[in-house]
Amino acid sequence: MGGAVRDMLLGREPKDFDVATDATPEEVRELFRNCRLIGRRFRLAHVHFGPEIIEVATFRSAQPPPEEEHQNDEGMILRDNIYGTIEEDALRRDFTVNALYYNIADFSIIDYADGVEDINRGELKLLGEPVQRYREDPVRMLRAVRFAARLGFRITDETLKPIGELADLLDGVPAARLFEETLKLFMAGHAYETFHLLHQYGLLRYLFPLTESVMSGDYDQRITEMIDQGLKNTDERIDTGKPVTPAFLFAVLLWEPVRELAEELRREEQIAEIPALQQAASQVLSEQAQRVSIPKRFTFMMRDIWTLQPRFQNRAGKRPLRLLGHPKFRAAYDFMLLRAQAGEVDLELAEWWTSYQDVNGEERGKMSRSGNRPPRRRRRSKPKQQP
Ligand code: ATP
Ligand code: MG
Repeated sequence: MGGAVRDMLLGREPKDFDVATDATPEEVRELFRNCRLIGRRFRLAHVHFGPEIIEVATFRSAQPPPEEEHQNDEGMILRDNIYGTIEEDALRRDFTVNALYYNIADFSIIDYADGVEDINRGELKLLGEPVQRYREDPVRMLRAVRFAARLGFRITDETLKPIGELADLLDGVPAARLFEETLKLFMAGHAYETFHLLHQYGLLRYLFPLTESVMSGDYDQRITEMIDQGLKNTDERIDTGKPVTPAFLFAVLLWEPVRELAEELRREEQIAEIPALQQAASQVLSEQAQRVSIPKRFTFMMRDIWTLQPRFQNRAGKRPLRLLGHPKFRAAYDFMLLRAQAGEVDLELAEWWTSYQDVNGEERGKMSRSGNRPPRRRRRSKPKQQP
């Protein structure tokens, strides 16, 4: 039951309850009508109770299967469906704090790996031999950062040390799995800490290589300011229960690479501003897709957010009203505010758009006719945050 027992011991509300059993997935399906078997690498039963899905996993064997087809050359586990006892299952979990079980027969906690002690100490420690555990599944390096950031735990030296040397193994992880992991890293309310730990431990470049490269060396402070603000906004929205889309945050993370490339295209090939942004967006997104495959529904929104940016400069005539009616106006506006906070756009322009949304149709007409200034009585000291 890993995560749920850990969260309850920490006084947090578990996200979900994973059930572990000695029944095979096929046996679980016999018992529950609303049951679906999923996964290949890791076969599981999903039992549906109305809108809820309870994940039921069969105890796994501790020993990675020796046959070649279950592991690749680097020792990565490809199949993991050899069933075992609860103790064996505990020992093949990733971190000691995740190897806890709640026994519903007598309400006791089963702890084979001293996970309770590590929870009390606030330490994140891999079970077993760290190098071997990372080789079996390199995503465990990302999981280490995720849990450290989310639980506020310290990663023990032994668990941390091999990461520098083994990070390259993340190159061999499919981009689709890295996308799933990226969502868990950034959409769980601790994006700010997670991002900086990833950067600090040299893992960021396996997920967002272009972002990492604009942040390395002699970079402009403005770049991290905008990224930090985007990360904090995302965390804040999650904390207050507001809707979040990963597209917005990904657009923030990749903005500087897109902006720089678009500028280069304008300079060197005399391409106009918006087409240059479109071309830069395509190039950056296709490079990004090699690492993390972001689904189309998100990349479409990222493109809109980016290519709408120049249109905020036009405040005259019918153009502002047309921009306001764009389906992605709100996201693009929030994005423009971040750019303004980072000093990339005039604050005065950001304030104009904040007022423009608030006022009625008649005043809007005045604002776009009179050019640049918002009506005086409507002046605001601060631009609005994302709602
Ligand atoms: P969350 O609250 O984010 O769901 P969780 O601890 O439940 O956190 P899951 O990703 O849902 O994490 O995984 C459930 C459990 O399965 C973990 O607690 C861990 O014991 C085990 N597990 C998951 N992924 C791995 C892995 N890559 N290697 C080893 N064990 C894993
Ligand atoms: Mg879970």
